Amino acid sequence: MKKTRQFVICIIVITLITLSTITAYAAMCSHEWKYWEVLDVVSEYEYIDSGICYETTTMYVECKICGTNDGLMSYSILSHDWIRENLGHISGTNTHRFSNTCSQCGYSFNTDEFCSTQH
Ligand SMILES: [Zn+2]
Ligand SMILES: [Zn+2]
Ligand SMILES: [Zn+2]
Repeated sequence: MKKTRQFVICIIVITLITLSTITAYAAMCSHEWKYWEVLDVVSEYEYIDSGICYETTTMYVECKICGTNDGLMSYSILSHDWIRENLGHISGTNTHRFSNTCSQCGYSFNTDEFCSTQH
């Protein structure tokens, strides 16, 4: 029983040493910008209101010297990028339906507009 406990403590000590070695090594590295390699850039969009599309961009970088990974986030307020799709004439009325979908956040709504053309 006593032996097992000592063994566990031993593992904890080894883990601590390993962690502090990694930290010390990373701390020694200056992570200068020229050593950062961009692995991926991910943009996410969120609907705020009819005029605001909120963009969160995460740039995943890795230091080529020490292998430290980091994510740099930036935020921007954009307008929605509406894509209009013709849904056709609403029969029996003089309106024509369009769908408007933001290519960024995916928000979508329909508009019925006056249409004088006979289809
Ligand atoms: Zn580094
Ligand atoms: Zn949007
Ligand atoms: Zn129409």
